[in-house]
Amino acid sequence: MGMAEKTIQNLSQSSLQDFVDCPRRFELRYLKKLNYPAAQTEPILENEKHMQEGAQFHRLVHEHLLGMPVEKLHLLANTPKLRRWFENYLNADLRLADYTLHPEFTLSAPLGNLRLVAKYDLVAVQKNEGTRGASQVIILDWKTYRRRPRDEWLATRLQTRVYRSLLVQSGAYLNEGVPFKPEQLEMIYWFADFPNEPARFKYDATLFNRDWETLAKLTEEIVSAAEYPKTEELIRCSYCPFRSYCERGSQAGAYEALESEMEAEELFDIHFEQIGEIAF
Ligand code: SF4
Repeated sequence: MGMAEKTIQNLSQSSLQDFVDCPRRFELRYLKKLNYPAAQTEPILENEKHMQEGAQFHRLVHEHLLGMPVEKLHLLANTPKLRRWFENYLNADLRLADYTLHPEFTLSAPLGNLRLVAKYDLVAVQKNEGTRGASQVIILDWKTYRRRPRDEWLATRLQTRVYRSLLVQSGAYLNEGVPFKPEQLEMIYWFADFPNEPARFKYDATLFNRDWETLAKLTEEIVSAAEYPKTEELIRCSYCPFRSYCERGSQAGAYEALESEMEAEELFDIHFEQIGEIAF
């Protein structure tokens, strides 16, 4: 049994993305379970505040989807940014009126000797009257990025690949016991600061097969790896919280100068594989 199998049971889009971006980062974070030793970027406080507001925005939307009155939620949107994001969300027409909503929904499936886990911000299912199985299912993911990323960048993210394929693989529970067909599914990233520019990704059987094969292959690589080398893309180190372990500079990168600042934001996302309770 390899080091990975002894140490972890679950993989998530975040841990897979770390492995793809830098195997060493995967090792430090998930196998050695090190805390962040270095501040991620400058200015630190502003960045941390943005992360906290992002997490708070997710909570507000979740409460709203559970039916909490908007007036109460307005009181909780207590910074200018949160107010702006929440207003944008309330004014957005996401066209979900005839959908059944499953906010903060967790799915998992076996993947090699490990388990793949994903926690969705929202899965919306539209019933097709008279026919068993839904006519349409939408994955919604809220993003509080400072910039609107390119669709090409989003399309290659592990999140886009994991969330869509896992719903096909193990989402039958939401569809009267019938597995979703890839063609029934769409994933939408909705950007709180760019409310009229969502990114939409349809799906099909070819993409699904390719994604699932890629995920199985990555899992195999993780499990069988004898070592976890440092990335050759030095730009990744300039905002990596672990750089002082790697002798790749202790000065935090200037946030504004980052080419891939969205990647940096993702580094602080909550890592759901640490959540013990899995519903399905
Ligand atoms: S500093 Fe660079 S090599 Fe080290 S974990 Fe971070 S990204 Fe990987």
